[in-house]
Amino acid sequence: MKTREAGKRIRVNRGPAAVIDLSALAHNLEIVRKIVSNKLIIAVVKADAYGHGSAEISRRLVSLGVSRLAVAFTGEAKLLRQSGIRAEIIVLFDRTAADDYFTYSLTPVIQDKRTAHEFSRQAGKRRTRVRVHVKIDTGMGRIGFDAENAAAEVAEIAGLEGIELEGLMSHFSEADLADRSYALRQLNVFNAIRDKVSAKLGRHVMCHIANSAAVLSLPEAIQDAVRPGLLLYGCSPFKEGHDLRPLMTVKTGLLAVRNLRPGTPVSYGRTFTTKRESRVAVVPVGYADGFSRLFSNNAEMLVKGRRAPVVGRVCMDLTMLDVTDIDGVEEGDEVVILGSQGGETITAADLSGRIGTIPYEIITSLGSRAKREYVN
Ligand SMILES: *Cc1c(COP(=O)(O)O)cnc(C)c1O
Repeated sequence: MKTREAGKRIRVNRGPAAVIDLSALAHNLEIVRKIVSNKLIIAVVKADAYGHGSAEISRRLVSLGVSRLAVAFTGEAKLLRQSGIRAEIIVLFDRTAADDYFTYSLTPVIQDKRTAHEFSRQAGKRRTRVRVHVKIDTGMGRIGFDAENAAAEVAEIAGLEGIELEGLMSHFSEADLADRSYALRQLNVFNAIRDKVSAKLGRHVMCHIANSAAVLSLPEAIQDAVRPGLLLYGCSPFKEGHDLRPLMTVKTGLLAVRNLRPGTPVSYGRTFTTKRESRVAVVPVGYADGFSRLFSNNAEMLVKGRRAPVVGRVCMDLTMLDVTDIDGVEEGDEVVILGSQGGETITAADLSGRIGTIPYEIITSLGSRAKREYVN
């Protein structure tokens, strides 16, 4: 970014830029389509599309033929409507703002009877109907109807005035494990409820339970619809890549490069001290930008197509790299935090593995704070 001040050009290096490759989104969607063939894809774009920008991502998904999106809260859905997205939006978790569901034509996920009655009442007041999906807790222990009485309760909800039961859903707690037993148990519970609901209603309701991990590894879980998130953004919940292409590159320019004598401590707490004549580069990215402090002395970034180790503690706004072994590094050089440069690549999985988290957290935290640009 450049600003002008008193006729002088000042380069502002502050913070990272995230470059989002929308052609990779099309590529990943195609992979999902090949796996699920003609099944409906409910693209999960919660948390600002996992840090990729929900309006831009949703717009592209819709132009690629995706007809349904899912977000966590109504505020996210409202933003999409205001960005001109007219596809059906399923709101996974929010039951607070009944008004918004009607104002913005959103599809609620019903997780308890009280909310079902509230929607029925609101629909009656507005002389309209509301399309809903009902969530069953098949073993995630988070939200939804207890599996035990679910079938009867779902049937009751389907009979409420103003309620149009469209979907039945559940969520896996560990579809990403090699051991499938618990996921299969959840699936069996779900299928039993699905069959009972069909029998009670005399019709089939759209069923969906598969997240990214299940799409890739549990064909039995691919029912009428699937709900992938992570896959679309080009990350896999598994070790192997499945030919997915990550959308996000996070980069910035070096703020400073300094020569330090042997024995010079670097950053807070002196957790790193130079052992030789060193060149240390300062990156204008820190934990305030979503680059976790747990990466202190425990990550690499790419400079001139080479891996440079993070040295010392990650600060709020700055991180230091040892670039002694990389020739010709200068202030302003591009540094890649996530993504590829000159044949080297740092993936979200590389980063998450170092700090005991998952790729989801890496992309949402880096992506949501960066200045984003979109390329095709
Ligand atoms: C986030 C979420 C998904 C998508 O999960 P991925 O692992 O990213 O595919 C699907 N369903 C629900 C209910 C979710 O909360």
